[in-house]
Amino acid sequence: MKFYQYCAKCGQRYSDFQIQEMKQGVSRIKCESCGLAIYNNPRMAVAAILVRDGQYLMSRRGIEPFRGTLDVAGGFCDYGEDSLESLQRELKEELNLDESTYDIRGILGTMHNWYNNGGREEEQYSVGTVFYVLETEREDFEVLDDVSGYEWIPLGTVSEDIGFPELKVFLTEYMDQLVEIAG
Ligand SMILES: [Zn+2]
Repeated sequence: MKFYQYCAKCGQRYSDFQIQEMKQGVSRIKCESCGLAIYNNPRMAVAAILVRDGQYLMSRRGIEPFRGTLDVAGGFCDYGEDSLESLQRELKEELNLDESTYDIRGILGTMHNWYNNGGREEEQYSVGTVFYVLETEREDFEVLDDVSGYEWIPLGTVSEDIGFPELKVFLTEYMDQLVEIAG
């Protein structure tokens, strides 16, 4: 959330000072009229790095932001899900992969980034992503949902075609560990 102007419960307008605070990224805002507190926590997300035969899978984004650039499979956790449930659901939605088609090798690490929903700056979220490494035998996938294609990338290399700058930094920093886990 970049900022809200009105309380979601009672409709009271937040003070100019509170709106200013939200624009600067405060973690909690409390309505002065009814007391409802809104917590500006990071959104939780999961990412899947599928590895196979010395390569890892990247998908091409079919939606904004960064439409057309390379990304990894995954997405936001739905309400009430733990990260593993989200991972399984996203792999089914994006690549039509069932649990029987991959083995979880481990967690590579976590990343924080700023996400502009639909590319809109006024809908900016703070996002925390857990990266899973999965081994698969599959080489070809169906492409569904918000993915428009995929590419196998040789382990040890990071593509220049990645859209999210934080993802490029993350993969560069964690590539040695990825190679180790994949091996
Ligand atoms: Zn209120």
